[in-house]
Order: sequence, then C-alpha cells, then structure tokens
Amino acid sequence: MDFPATLLHGARGTGLWESLLEAASGLLCEAPGRVLAPWQSRACGTCAGCHLVRAGTHPDLRVVLPAALAAELGWGAEEGAEAGQGEAKGAAAGREIGIEQVRGLIDWAQGTSHRGGPKVALVHPLDAMAAPAANALLKVLEEPPASLCFLTGTHQLDRVLPTLRSRCSLRAWKRPGAEAALAELQRRGQADAEAVLHWSRRAVFEADPARGLDWTRRLVRQLAEGRVTQLDGVTPAQALESLQKLTLDLVRVRSGLAPSYLAELDAPLRRLAGRGDTGAWLQWWQRLAQAARTPDFPVHAGLAVQAWVVELQQLCTSGTN
Ligand SMILES: [Zn+2]
Repeated sequence: MDFPATLLHGARGTGLWESLLEAASGLLCEAPGRVLAPWQSRACGTCAGCHLVRAGTHPDLRVVLPAALAAELGWGAEEGAEAGQGEAKGAAAGREIGIEQVRGLIDWAQGTSHRGGPKVALVHPLDAMAAPAANALLKVLEEPPASLCFLTGTHQLDRVLPTLRSRCSLRAWKRPGAEAALAELQRRGQADAEAVLHWSRRAVFEADPARGLDWTRRLVRQLAEGRVTQLDGVTPAQALESLQKLTLDLVRVRSGLAPSYLAELDAPLRRLAGRGDTGAWLQWWQRLAQAARTPDFPVHAGLAVQAWVVELQQLCTSGTN
C-alpha cells in the first residue's frame, strides 16, 4: 500500500480537523469492502478499528498536534496522541509542534502495523513547526515507510515550508454550506444559530463561533445611542477580531451592500456608517488590520480595546450634521 501524503488546506473553524480525523477513521475502519484511499470511504463507526479511533487508542494512528490545540480539541490525554507536554512550556507556549513530537512520530512510523491495515499519521497544522521539526518531518515524507498514510492540514498554506508542501498532494477544503453549518450549530445546541452562522461566516467548527457577537451587539447599540459605557467580556484579540468584522460591515453598508456578519443589525449599521468620511474609515480599517498582523498582539494589547472603541465612536459621530 502506497499513499501520497495529503495536505488539506482551508480557513480556520471550517472543519479541517474534523475532516482529517474522518479521513483517518475511514482508512482505519475494518468493515469489509472499504476503499483504502483517504476520503474515499466513510468509517462504519461500529467495528473494532472505529472503536479504537474514537477512544484515541488505535495503535496504528498517530496524532501530532501542538499542545494547546490538543487541549482545545480534547485530544492528547490518551495513548496514541503525542502532545509534547514536555516542550509545551517552551518559547512557543504549546502553539508549535516540537521536534520531540516529530521524533516520536518517526520512531512510531518505523514499526509494522499492529492491526494489519495502514498506519495513519495525522499532523496538524503543518505550518506550526519550527525549522528543526520540519526538517525531521521532511525525512519521513521523502522516504515514507510502506503503508504509512500521512495526513496533514493547514489554515495558512503560504506558511508551510515549500520543502514540506512539495511532498504533499494538496487538497482544498471548502467552508461548510449554510445548511451543514446550521446543522452543526444545532447539534452543538448553539443559541441564536442563524446569527452565529453569519457572524462566523460558517466557520462553525471553532471552539466558540459566537465569540465577540454579544459584545459587538452591545457596542453597536451603545454607539447608536451615542454613549459607550461598559464593554467587557472579551479578550483584546476577540475585540480586535470583532471590530474588524464590524468595520467591514460598516464599510459594506456605506457602499450600499448588505452587512455580511451582522445581517440582523442592518438598520443601526446604516445609521452609524453614514457618518465620517470614507478616507477616515479606510485608515481605521488599515490600523485594525495592522494590529491583527502583529505577532503577540494580545500580549501588548492592554488598554488598546478601550482606545479603539473611543476611536470608533469618534468615527461614527464625526460628520454628524
Ligand atoms: Zn469501522
């Protein structure tokens, strides 16, 4: 059995991880008649292989995630997952896949299959790796052991090292459609599902697709009333993300388009967006975008949120009359 390594790429929160796990499950399912190619057959959910995958104890599945992501996904306490706890305290603070994790994967990959089927290495995200780890991984990709299927994903394809990328066949992952996204939100018991669908742009597989929505609603209400008072309940990073979404909608509305994140607030957005001149709005948008690009931004954010809100308020009130 020979499997080309597959690199699945798509936006955050759109179900990339879930799809990778589904592909792994399909390969490790032991029901008769399955096709041994990723994403070509669905796991039956009832055989011994499927049970082991679900329990996180399948000996032929190796999951390699940054420690922070493993914790978020609830993956890693069990055997079969390698979350690199020892390295998690390092500079990358658990957001990277460490070289020890890759070494562990390489050792595991050399062994023969326990259950006679393929072995599946699931590494995600492929861009979350410093050069030493990436180089170690590259050696496995250059000469993959027989019957090893390498599945990996990224939300930032341009950040994957070209050497790694060139070893993988690329597969684009699309956002879920509105129906599938709504179904996922309902499965999770998400309140206000329709609004969250818009707010997250259907990236409903995130840990909290509604984050920032209530904060933004309060902000819009207070801006409309002309007095911003207390606005807590979000981290600086969430505030920044929310302000970007709100600003995009305000700019859309100025251009005569419907808001895309806050469809429910069409009328108040129209009243707010009519104010301020276009150049000032663009400058504001660029400043937010620049802050979002700054690494470690949340660490230094401090009082930034309050200052931004004041600035947005000025923008929304300038030019009145
Ligand atoms: Zn099965």
